[in-house]
Amino acid sequence: MNSSLSIKLLQCAKTFGSGAPALEPIDLEIHPGETLVLLGPSGCGKTTTLRLIAGLEFPDAGGRVLFGDDDVTDLPIEKRGVGMVFQNYALFPNMTVGENIAYGMKIRKLPAAERAARIDALLDMVHLQGLGHRRIDQLSGGQKQRVALARALAVEPRVLLLDEPLTALDAKLRETLRADLNQLLRKLGITAIYVTHDQGEAMALGDRVVVMERGKIAQIGTPQDIYYRPASEFVADFIGTMNRVSGVTRVGHLQIPAGIVPLANVKPDRQATAMFRPEDVEIVPLDTAGAEIFGDVMSTFFMGDRTRLLVDVGTEMPVIVETRRRGVWHAGEHIGLRVPEHAVMQLPAQHFSGE
Ligand code: ATP
Repeated sequence: MNSSLSIKLLQCAKTFGSGAPALEPIDLEIHPGETLVLLGPSGCGKTTTLRLIAGLEFPDAGGRVLFGDDDVTDLPIEKRGVGMVFQNYALFPNMTVGENIAYGMKIRKLPAAERAARIDALLDMVHLQGLGHRRIDQLSGGQKQRVALARALAVEPRVLLLDEPLTALDAKLRETLRADLNQLLRKLGITAIYVTHDQGEAMALGDRVVVMERGKIAQIGTPQDIYYRPASEFVADFIGTMNRVSGVTRVGHLQIPAGIVPLANVKPDRQATAMFRPEDVEIVPLDTAGAEIFGDVMSTFFMGDRTRLLVDVGTEMPVIVETRRRGVWHAGEHIGLRVPEHAVMQLPAQHFSGE
């Protein structure tokens, strides 16, 4: 399998009809062998971007698509060497599993013996050993998606394109398939582009994640970059849960009604907003000196492996706290909190200093 193909989109834009652009001109480079996830809310342009790479859509004038050094901008999908997996499987329901997987190989006139050997290897790879003779309509959703993946890989594509492949499956199955897919993509080392609106999936599968917002790239980075260093409020809100508290800056911290949040490198006496994740807030016993924020528990949600608290700290929105400590907290209880300095995020300067 070719594992070293890079893909470049250069100034690729797309407007359908006379509406607003589905995609503003974007530049995007996908590294050889990486899994790049396109993530964002409905309508942000993820699928359009994927379809431009596939050759199912073509960019507006001036845009270019490169596979390695080849300019494929004007090539249709069948000339690009891509394998695709869709949300709705798109399998032939009346054929067997094996016939579905063999389809592309037949078109390419691969000898029967080689087809058979490859089908067996692919069935092994997607954990469907021995199911080659089953009919598609006798499979579960998860099994169908494994067949779709095997079929996409059968023709040894240069690039694997996946459009919400796990969305139709129930939560447990989604998790199993996500883990299998993760392993498989790593093992194959194929360049893959994966569209999803599910941030958990994006974090788990992406070497890098592109967060899209209204036809533009809001941020591109590793899952850790996106989670811990969001480039904008949009990204911060879209990925995970984010607390946001406003107050006035002092030297080294932000003064909020019920205490302080550490905030390095800010000019004093400015209105500012600090952000931090619920899991980074520590609950501190009131009778020790460590508490820096004091609040009243509004509600609690026991989630099994953790407890989520909504705490009123006198700001516009309550602070959300998630703790893995075993304990029971009650609505109305007065508690102490602390946010470590390293967990407080700073958005670009204009959000803090008014500059
Ligand atoms: P979703 O998760 O809902 O699929 P998406 O992020 O994949 O969303 P796109 O499917 O790329 O978004 O769509 C981006 C915008 O372009 C949307 O406003 C959509 O309605 C529009 N659009 C996409 N395809 C077409 C088309 N063939 N004709 C007209 N408008 C289109």
